Amino acid sequence: MNFIETRGNDGRHPETVSFSEAILTPISSFGGLYSPESLPKLDPSFFTSQLDSDYKTLARVILASFNIDIDATIIKHALDLYDSFDDPSNPVPVTKVYDDLYVSELYHGPTRAFKDMALQPFGVVLSAIAQNRKERYLILAATSGDTGPAALETFKNKTNVQVACMYPEGGTSDVQRLQMVTEDAHNLKVIGVKGDFDDTQTALKRLLASETFKRTLKQKDVHLSAANSVNFGRIIFQIIYHVHSYLELVRQNAIDMGEKVYLDLPSGNFGNALGGYYAMKMGLPVEKILIASNSNNILTRFIHSGHYDLRTLSVVQTTSPAMDILKSSNVERVLFDLFGAERTKDLMHQLDSDKCYQLTTDELEQIQSIFAADYCEDDEGIAYIKRVFDRGYLMDPHTATCFKAYETCRDKPLKTIVYSTAEWTKFSPVIANALTGEIDVHDIDALKSIAKVADITIPSMISELFEKEIAQKTVIEKDAIEQEILAFL
Ligand SMILES: *Cc1c(COP(=O)(O)O)cnc(C)c1O
Repeated sequence: MNFIETRGNDGRHPETVSFSEAILTPISSFGGLYSPESLPKLDPSFFTSQLDSDYKTLARVILASFNIDIDATIIKHALDLYDSFDDPSNPVPVTKVYDDLYVSELYHGPTRAFKDMALQPFGVVLSAIAQNRKERYLILAATSGDTGPAALETFKNKTNVQVACMYPEGGTSDVQRLQMVTEDAHNLKVIGVKGDFDDTQTALKRLLASETFKRTLKQKDVHLSAANSVNFGRIIFQIIYHVHSYLELVRQNAIDMGEKVYLDLPSGNFGNALGGYYAMKMGLPVEKILIASNSNNILTRFIHSGHYDLRTLSVVQTTSPAMDILKSSNVERVLFDLFGAERTKDLMHQLDSDKCYQLTTDELEQIQSIFAADYCEDDEGIAYIKRVFDRGYLMDPHTATCFKAYETCRDKPLKTIVYSTAEWTKFSPVIANALTGEIDVHDIDALKSIAKVADITIPSMISELFEKEIAQKTVIEKDAIEQEILAFL
């Protein structure tokens, strides 16, 4: 399968690229993204035939249907990483919470957030390609908390790949920071940056555009890549768990094969939602995809009105920080898939120059036939965490936003799959607040009080973090990042 460009071709980039090229250089003509030329079709007999498959088998079959230029042995090796999840026979458990609401838990990997679902296998694939090509890569990552630990974990000790990961000093939870600064491997560099996440991300973009930086990398024979969520190498692994979760509902006798369901997910950069959209287009019986947001509700406004408007908004900090985002990059791939390259280029150009765009009535109808959306304020989220806990289920603040969409966005009595994107251990102060009312406690105290109230144990990979040695001590001003990374190389 080949990949084509969401904003059309500028005559300088290749018009189509292979999967491996799309993931090594994810940005295409006019700043667009690579998208699959066509999607494989999974007919009803496919789902029946996979009903008894375990996660890795299902993944292998779906990936094979994409016919990508990656050796089967590398794919096998990549998928074997799901063996390190809590239950190797079922890395993504699906739990019934209400009669018509099931939670698909995507956080049972090494860093306890759903970024592992894609970044774990992606790391294996990317470093295998780098090795085959005998090229060295520098992977840059700016993180607000979950991508950083997952990227470090997957690339640690990999040959031909070095990672420089920047996080805002003071802007992550204790657990997230410890997950990064206790990583000790020769090919990893973790840099605390003084400032907030926007400062960190701006510094990263400046670096990606810096001529001296690129020249120096070239002299050292190092290629530059990024592990961010527009990389199709991550998206492809995010199609699989939607199919798996659906089949789980069939296996649990919650639905009959072929019955439609709602997918309900906490959305930031729209990678999870895009995976669901592709699964639906490939044939998964989905009624609608519910897009849950926090008070950074640009996606809710967009799906309600067709108006994507950045002009009057600025990012506000919430208790679900992985969704504190206004430029939701993967929306572009849906626009391209529905309206074509010319229109997508036009809309994205308007977003760059005017900070907004407006869909036509017909375009909006198409979007609304696939997506519905609502947003959940922090205090509502806290109330959902408490209410759902009282019914016997513990969830994190990102997952909580889905319960609002579940209540307001469905117009048919169909089963709903809510995606849980983080374990309670990653955002414990908020959850402790919801369950016990305590405020401003440190992670370690919050973890202990939740463990007590909920009568659960803190997973060892989290409790051990507080004992580990700090291996990464660099904290610098944002102007010093370039020098720091060059010294690391
Ligand atoms: C990254 C992340 C999200 C948002 O996912 P997208 O694919 O970017 O929409 C939601 N919840 C958590 C905990 C995350 O880490």
